[in-house]
Amino acid sequence: MRIGIIGAGQLGQMLGFAARDLGMHCTFIDPSPNPPAVACGQVIQASFDDHGALSALAADCDIVTFEFENVPVEALERISEQVPVYPPPDALRQAQDRLAEKRLFKGLGISLPAYHAVDSIDDLENAAKAIGLPLVLKTRRLGYDGKGQFVVSNQADLETAWRQLGEGGLIAEEWVNFDFEVSAIGARNAAGDIITYPLTHNEHVDGILRVSRAPVDDETLTRHAEQAMTALLTSLNYVGVLTLELFVVGDRLLANEFAPRVHNSGHWTIEGAVPSQFTSHLIAISNGRLDAPRLRGYAGMLNLIGEIPAVARSLQKSYLHDYGKDARPGRKLGHITVIADSAAERDRLLAEIGEFVT
Ligand code: AMP
Repeated sequence: MRIGIIGAGQLGQMLGFAARDLGMHCTFIDPSPNPPAVACGQVIQASFDDHGALSALAADCDIVTFEFENVPVEALERISEQVPVYPPPDALRQAQDRLAEKRLFKGLGISLPAYHAVDSIDDLENAAKAIGLPLVLKTRRLGYDGKGQFVVSNQADLETAWRQLGEGGLIAEEWVNFDFEVSAIGARNAAGDIITYPLTHNEHVDGILRVSRAPVDDETLTRHAEQAMTALLTSLNYVGVLTLELFVVGDRLLANEFAPRVHNSGHWTIEGAVPSQFTSHLIAISNGRLDAPRLRGYAGMLNLIGEIPAVARSLQKSYLHDYGKDARPGRKLGHITVIADSAAERDRLLAEIGEFVT
């Protein structure tokens, strides 16, 4: 089977390695000259709205998928006339707009933080009255890793936040004093079969994921997350892997956002679960049989951001993934996974590694 993948970053690379093990062949499209996925397939160097290049990719593949969220939906819709495109472009459309995403959660009865659409400074002042301060103002579109966000703590910040974020197309959200953050990863195939991975505990620094731990052993949270995941996958008539990011407050879950793709918080599944999120995505989009993941222990994952310290290459009891990217401050260059027999041992290994990874 030939899979076309839009985006050739590290997610594409990890999909490509999983595809190889399944006997699938991947071709990528990406504007960068030497992206991570060159390690596992041919990369067509073209922009994500280059209709000619996308059409050539579609003509050469049985299925097209994407690993990057800022692909123009119209481009996906156009190639979906040529070849099946999974996840469905409409799911991407909703994920690209925080307001549409929140309305979707609300319509499905998935709990979420209070929010207010903001298209004028008056809207923002009304949002502050309705939601209270602090609140977080976000751009509705094109935000990632905490970019396009401003935490408004007092009345004087309102005007600054409004100007800084581009004066429109915004959303104000209640600032949630969460206990911790989790993500739920699930997959659905075209036949409607669904699998879910155990909840992953995530720590972010400056909006960027640093450390993930799985599984989160909590039956109530797991049940609520599975209900939300099933409702989302079903209502979107979804095919592929979907990731839902949530805040935990006591025994409640509040949905933050969803990503219609494999996710950084699921990288631990490469060594920590059979099948991995990457394998499940490929099986789901090719309408294969989805197997419930079997865990190999307690998993931890640490992102390597800005640099890969030399010592990372000689660690015991850990798996280093180097994406082959040029070092740049704030850039995700790789990750390290540890698998242990107990949560305590996993946390000990993570703490040891964390001493040299900032
Ligand atoms: P996002 O781009 O929406 O995923 O936000 C990135 C990170 O910012 C989240 O993972 C949280 O750590 C934090 N964050 C975003 N929205 C909120 C909120 N409403 N309340 C508290 N923290 C938030």
